[in-house]
Amino acid sequence: PKAQAVKVRQAPELVGQRVQVSGWVHRLRRQGKALMFVVLRDGTGFLQCLLADRLCQTYDAILLSQEASIRVYGTLARRAWRRRTNSRLLGADRPGSPGGVESVLNVESDVDVLLDNRHLVLRGEHTSKIVKLSCHVMRAFRSHLFDRGYVEVTPPTMVQTQVEGGSTLFSFDYYGEPAYLTQSSQLYLETCLPVVGDCFCVARSYRAEKSRTRRHLSEYTHLEAECPFITYNDLLDRVEDLIVDVSERVLKEAGDLLREVNPKFNAPKKPFRRMNYTDALVWLKENNVLRPDGKNYEFGDDIPEAPERQMTDTINEPILLCRFPAEIKAFYMPRCQEDNRVTESVDVLIPGVGEIVGGSMRIWKHDELMKGYAREGIDPSPYYWYTQQREYGSCPHGGYGLGVERFMTWMFGQEHIRDVCLYPRMTGRCKP
Ligand code: ATP
Ligand code: MG
Ligand code: MG
Ligand code: MG
Repeated sequence: PKAQAVKVRQAPELVGQRVQVSGWVHRLRRQGKALMFVVLRDGTGFLQCLLADRLCQTYDAILLSQEASIRVYGTLARRAWRRRTNSRLLGADRPGSPGGVESVLNVESDVDVLLDNRHLVLRGEHTSKIVKLSCHVMRAFRSHLFDRGYVEVTPPTMVQTQVEGGSTLFSFDYYGEPAYLTQSSQLYLETCLPVVGDCFCVARSYRAEKSRTRRHLSEYTHLEAECPFITYNDLLDRVEDLIVDVSERVLKEAGDLLREVNPKFNAPKKPFRRMNYTDALVWLKENNVLRPDGKNYEFGDDIPEAPERQMTDTINEPILLCRFPAEIKAFYMPRCQEDNRVTESVDVLIPGVGEIVGGSMRIWKHDELMKGYAREGIDPSPYYWYTQQREYGSCPHGGYGLGVERFMTWMFGQEHIRDVCLYPRMTGRCKP
């Protein structure tokens, strides 16, 4: 009978049947002249194949090498290797690969060698698990937001306005006009509020980061949401809900796979610890974490990555860090009524990574917004479409941006953000 073409993931239901499976040689071992063990990988799983006797003597079998693409024919057996039962093979397509990914690349290879060969490293078991889990995470984020009635929109990524400060802008020539790669889609999302209400987008954001850290990419996936008619407290609740619910969803949908990658992962519990920026200053002082100049961090200082992570790792639970001083936050953040020096802002800090979310309420009065531009020294004219919102039915609103790769670095228990990217873009690296 004609062998049915199947994927490896279907194999358990087809034991005893003759099938054909197409994929790549993940591993290959020859034992004498009459036995070959092949682990075939097809993206849905791994299939152990046994070739015996004459099958090992064919031209194709002799030339077969690691990472060649092949099609195998045989009868599916449970644990074919151990019982040496009736798996028969093989009509290989032309063995096409130079072979030997793992003999060239292994965990001890130099980081740059591994990154240069990312296209091959991706084929490894660990990395392919991460690629699949990333898809589950994206699906969980979208499902979470769709279930709560958010509408997904697609803002442009080639823009002429900045959101998070001029120093990290990538600029380019746009038909003779200066333009930037977007740092954030927030301003565009805000214009969608009167169109669809609660909305979100998943877009790439670009930051020309000056320093190398284990959590900064030059191109990253930015999940941003914007919500009309909410209060600052609603915003804090929504951010917390997002992180807890998405963690639970991924555990439910792909818990087995996630545990293989990060056995220690547990969904965090609500409510998160809530701290103000000023509480963080106190914590740093009490724990003797000092500025590079040897003094204590003071009100108005940006808390850099290292001390921020030291605090988060020591406290060892998610933190909602609230009410940052206006001078270290962006032009669009409103001040708190109870204390005019600080803003209605929040960062979510997570052990091992630090900041994974930045959010705030947005200034919705025109005059106040203009003062923000003046304070930051930004020319408001390219923002005419944004500032005009404040003259046509403005409303209280707020939103947040979450770094998807940072979230995954935490969830998958990885050391460095590059390990959760398909092809990381970082300071000094734009290939492959
Ligand atoms: P950081 O303080 O780490 O530089 P940020 O405060 O500049 O981050 P935001 O402008 O608040 O970042 O952007 C929102 C979110 O986008 C951040 O909380 C983070 O999760 C993510 N993010 C920002 N910059 C990067 C980057 N270079 N690489 C990966 N993710 C990033
Ligand atoms: Mg930054
Ligand atoms: Mg920050
Ligand atoms: Mg931030």
